[in-house]
Amino acid sequence: MAMKIKTVKCRMFSGTLDRPIHFGIGAFPAFTATLVEVTTDDGLVGMGECIVRKAPHVTKAVVDQMFAPFLVGRDPRDAEGLWDEMFQQLRGWGHYRGFVFEAISGIDTALWDIVAKAAGQPVYKVLGGAGRSRVPCYASSVYFADVPEMVAQATDQVRRGHTALKVKIGRSAQMGGRRMDVTSIQAIREAVGPGIDIMLDVNSAYDAATAIKVGRQLEASDITWIEEPVPPDDLDGYQRVRTGQSIPIAAGESEFGVFGFRELIKRGAIDILQPDVARVGGFTGARRVGALVHAHNLRYAPHTGFSAGVSHLAALHVAASVPNLMTYEYFFAPNPLRDLFVEPFPEPKGGMVDVPQKPGLGLALDEKVLRKFEVS
Ligand SMILES: [Mg+2]
Repeated sequence: MAMKIKTVKCRMFSGTLDRPIHFGIGAFPAFTATLVEVTTDDGLVGMGECIVRKAPHVTKAVVDQMFAPFLVGRDPRDAEGLWDEMFQQLRGWGHYRGFVFEAISGIDTALWDIVAKAAGQPVYKVLGGAGRSRVPCYASSVYFADVPEMVAQATDQVRRGHTALKVKIGRSAQMGGRRMDVTSIQAIREAVGPGIDIMLDVNSAYDAATAIKVGRQLEASDITWIEEPVPPDDLDGYQRVRTGQSIPIAAGESEFGVFGFRELIKRGAIDILQPDVARVGGFTGARRVGALVHAHNLRYAPHTGFSAGVSHLAALHVAASVPNLMTYEYFFAPNPLRDLFVEPFPEPKGGMVDVPQKPGLGLALDEKVLRKFEVS
């Protein structure tokens, strides 16, 4: 039986925090998101999210003007082929990253949501399943504050049952620089004890020399990974940091598709891959990266962060379906756009999160909440 895409719509959302969050990129007060809604001729509705940190109108224009017209009338169960066709539109003109890729990601996520709903299965099952209906997670993240406040946040997360947590480093000189970074991590390690995994996230704020220095100073603190130590374009820097100190390197939230990850892997620059489903090419992109992770005996840790709830939910299905899963990023820091659903977002217990079992992504969006944050 043929199934046809009837409409592809893109909506924009924004939410603001009373107190901005501070980390390696600077102060972050305003959250934005674009959601893609795909409907079919037999009445199914699929939902996806394109990551946006700035200018949601740009992503919306790519969805509406570039992709929606040629998707209408096509079968959503050809998701993998449609992905290749979307990518092919501007690939030859060098658009193999960026806004085009983020638009593809939201559409592809919505297509797989439909495929799963048509099958009456959760998305992770139609992606092949990996024999897990719950996934290990880590608490993300402790942001910049004075050291006692950061220690209090870290111990609070441990008290809530988390066994792993991520802490931001990469302070500017005015905020105390790398010395304050090292002091804060040593204090947190001492407070939580030896049995808790601690990850570091620089958000690209160091250069390679600083990352190596800090990595060496924190070698005794038993750190699980150091994330985005240098800017995403500095592949030589990644290589230097990986060989210049002993903490494993994580990256990928700023990477697009299998091509970017292929390069990081070829250079021996990375241990843990962190694709964001809303940027890496949706479920199709996330799954293809899974094959790379498998082929190179690396580890997979899906990224979530400042995105809206659809992306956090989709990443949970990625975590439940990919090979070599390490851990899922459970975001506990304030995020006005995460809880967009009729039901509550799954809460972790003892360092594990349950994946929703209803067909598709498994949680229904709450139109009342959406309208509160929608922008035109
Ligand atoms: Mg990060």
